[in-house]
Parts: sequence; C-alpha cells; structure tokens
Amino acid sequence: MAVYQALLEPGDTVLGLRLDQGGHLTHGSPVNASGILYRFVSYGVTPSDERIDFDQVRDLALEHRPKMIVAGATAYPRTIDSEPFRQIADEVGALFMFDAAHIAGLVAGGVHPSPVPHADIVTLTTHKTLRGPRGGCILCRAEHAEKIDKSVFPGMQGGPLDHVIAAKAVAFREAAQPWFGEYARRIVENASALAETLAGTGLRLVSGGTDNHLMLVDMRSFDPDVSGKKARLALDRAGISLNENTVPDDPRPPYITSGLRIGTPAVTTQGMGPREMREIGSLIHRTLVGREDESEIAAIRDEVLALCSKFPPY
Ligand SMILES: *Cc1c(COP(=O)(O)O)cnc(C)c1O
Repeated sequence: MAVYQALLEPGDTVLGLRLDQGGHLTHGSPVNASGILYRFVSYGVTPSDERIDFDQVRDLALEHRPKMIVAGATAYPRTIDSEPFRQIADEVGALFMFDAAHIAGLVAGGVHPSPVPHADIVTLTTHKTLRGPRGGCILCRAEHAEKIDKSVFPGMQGGPLDHVIAAKAVAFREAAQPWFGEYARRIVENASALAETLAGTGLRLVSGGTDNHLMLVDMRSFDPDVSGKKARLALDRAGISLNENTVPDDPRPPYITSGLRIGTPAVTTQGMGPREMREIGSLIHRTLVGREDESEIAAIRDEVLALCSKFPPY
C-alpha cells in the first residue's frame, strides 16, 4: 500500500496476477484496498503449463497502458522470471514492482533469481521464507526513495515497534550467513521430494510440480467432491497443518477452493529432509483416503506426533 500510495494516484491502472491463479489480495482483489483504490487488470497463467502467460501480460499492457506492473505471487510453485516483466514495462512506460513476499528467503539464499536488477521496486515480507518477525520491507531505486519514505511515514505508519525492528535485524543477519543458503537449498529439495511423493500417489500438482518452497495440489484429481476446505479440515484432525487454496480457474469460491497449498520452510527448519518428506506425503495421502475413518485419523495423528517429536524446532 505504501508503494502504491507513493507512486500511483487513486484510479490509476495496474496489472497484477489474478487471485485464483496465485495472486495476492493486495494485487487488486476487489475486496482489498488495492482493488478499491486502483484500477487493477489481471493477467493469469496459461491453461497448458500453468506458468505465467507473458503473451497475455504484454497484450494487456499494450491495451490498458498501466502505470505499474506488479509481479509476484502468494501461491505459485514456479520460478518467476522478472526479465520479461521488465521488457514489457519498458515497452509501455510502466513502473515494475516485484512483490517477493513469499520468496525473499529463497532469493537471499541464492536459490531463486533476484528481481532486484530488473524491478523499480521490490517489496518483501520478513516473516515468510526470510524467517523473521512479521513485517514488510521495500527496496527501490534511489529516485523513488523520498516518495516511498514519506508514504510509509507519515503516510501509513505510526510509531515504530523497536523490538520488531531488532528482530528484523537478526533475521537479515541470519539471511546473510552462508548457512542460510544451505537452508534455502534444503527447502527447495524438500519441496521437490514432497511434490514427487504426492504426485506418486496420483494427486495432480498445479504446473506438474515445484521449483520453489511450495506446491499446490488439485483436489479434483483425488475426488471432485472433496473441496480444499474439506481436505484441510481432515488434515487438521490428523495433525497436519496446511491451507486450502484456489487452483487456476477454480470453480469454487476462495473460502472453499479445490486445492491445497503446502510449504516446506518450517519442516526444513525443524531439520527434516527428503526421507521425512516421503513420510509426510504418504501421511497426507492416507489422511485423504481415510478422512471419514476416525480410528485411521487417530493412528495417523500418532505417527505425526512421533515424527515431530524427533525434530523439535527449538
Ligand atoms: C503474504 C504476502 C503479502 C503480505 O501479506 P501479510 O498478510 O502481511 O502476510 C504480500 N504480498 C504477497 C504476494 C504475499 O504472499
């Protein structure tokens, strides 16, 4: 919001990724301040490979002449290449903002290409893969710095929370250590192992797999009558925490959905590796199959507890 307020006027046109295709509420959802204040036009993924459709991004940019193009996602399992966004933004004279909220830790760890060389503004959260306290961060070209600073304060923010600033400093220092790169590499390795296990049970993964820290399971491939929410509630009972999430062109609303979103950063921090990912994948599949059998759910819950007690987070 601080970036939008600094560089846009209310009513300005912005391009962003559609919510059901992996985009974030702050990328123009009609129920979010972004969609209320600005005129967002949404691009999506291709139906064939479920990767960002750059032909569509370019066509929409030429048609709508946005003042800003926003890249970045909250549920997209693939690498986001920022170069084509830069080229399209240059072609139509738009600013290019990359919202790296999810992947900031992967970028810091060197396992996802950095958007910094290509974007005018990069935003990130400090509490996702960067593994720090809840908060946000804005990087920008020097020419925008004064406007961004003013937009943050006095534009948006009141008094600072000094303890959270201290925690951010710790998170940034950790992310700058060589071992953080190893952590990031293991997150991605674990995500691949989990994705392979789930695909091996017959579940369809959006885009066929993952390049990053997360994957999306299309529950319609398991049973068209089991929504993402139904599956999530069963997994909750088995002690497996994840969230329901839309899949591209989801016929169900965002609070029910047809998909599951699963990430590996937390279990990687606990010290789990590919062997445990295979175990988790099989526990997830068993829960989906046995979702109406309370004794099976209780048995899975015991196995989850046994696994977690071997990997205490602290
Ligand atoms: C998580 C996220 C944000 C920030 O949302 P919070 O609710 O503050 O965590 C912004 N953009 C994207 C793409 C995100 O995934």
